[in-house]
Amino acid sequence: MKKQTFYFLFVFLFFSCKKDKFESIISTELSAYIDDFIAEGEKRGVTLSKERLEAFLIAELSLEREDNVCGLGWSNYNNQESQRIEILNNEFCWENRTDGERENLIFHELGHALLTRDHLNTTFPNGISKSIMCSGTDGFCSNFNVYYDNEVLKGYYLDELFDVNTPEPAFTQRTNFVRRVFEDHFEEGIIDWEEFIEGDPNIFEVSLDSTENEIRKGAYALKIEVKQSVIDEGNLIFVKRFELGAIKECSSLIFKADIRTEGELDGTLSQALSLRERLSDNTLNRFYLNSQPILEGQKTNTLLKDYALEMYCVTTRTNVVSVSFSIKSKLPVTIYIDNIRVELVE
Ligand SMILES: [Zn+2]
Repeated sequence: MKKQTFYFLFVFLFFSCKKDKFESIISTELSAYIDDFIAEGEKRGVTLSKERLEAFLIAELSLEREDNVCGLGWSNYNNQESQRIEILNNEFCWENRTDGERENLIFHELGHALLTRDHLNTTFPNGISKSIMCSGTDGFCSNFNVYYDNEVLKGYYLDELFDVNTPEPAFTQRTNFVRRVFEDHFEEGIIDWEEFIEGDPNIFEVSLDSTENEIRKGAYALKIEVKQSVIDEGNLIFVKRFELGAIKECSSLIFKADIRTEGELDGTLSQALSLRERLSDNTLNRFYLNSQPILEGQKTNTLLKDYALEMYCVTTRTNVVSVSFSIKSKLPVTIYIDNIRVELVE
């Protein structure tokens, strides 16, 4: 009897020792996001523990990857000993990211580590990702902004994260055109557009063009020239802001333009929509940016009509929207843009 008691005691001590040996290390910067993740699971009836989790904000990821991966997640790190996430601590992946962008990335990695989820690259018929577990190297998915701070959108993506059988959300089916909320045909000139140039400003020239061409609507089209071959392509961002006015919660915006290039683009032409909220001190807080490449790599003489970027489930907090084009090319190219408009869809 005595022997037996001793044996049980020994076993008990052995196990408690072993358990204590695992020290869950969580970088302080990541801690609040992890607690939020566990709380979001709790709300949805999924109980999780961070007992076996280690989470690092780290200067170098422990697996070298060729693509620009900003984070990794394992559900069985170190021979099943732990669950682990790593977030790369540099400007692109962490320092320049908003709170919401950081949350998107960390929740994705925790999806791997705590929910043992794999990547899911399914899209809805309208082209947006079905899941925050999409892999960030695919064109349609950016792990920084699958959702933003918008109850309906975030609600859906978190529901799906904790339950893969979540039904398709209503906002992917909104197709009723309501009105144009913005248009510019450059008939009165280039008005209220702003230019931001990285690199040599002499490479770029922006003007109005009145020559006959397929995309010109009215008397003028916008003409942007990259005037010489350059080794390090500079970058021109061409932006215009407008007041959105009243919308219904979770409406969609579609940003369309007609675009023609002449010569050889060697780089990227992309378009973006960003949502801004006017704060009480009258400054504009950008809380969401959605961008997509229009042309990439080497492309000669292209014509694109009604080229569209859609933004789903726009929140009523949005006061100001900006449309922008970003251009970089190592070879001389001329880009004509006209008939720019943003449509509201409910
Ligand atoms: Zn992943």
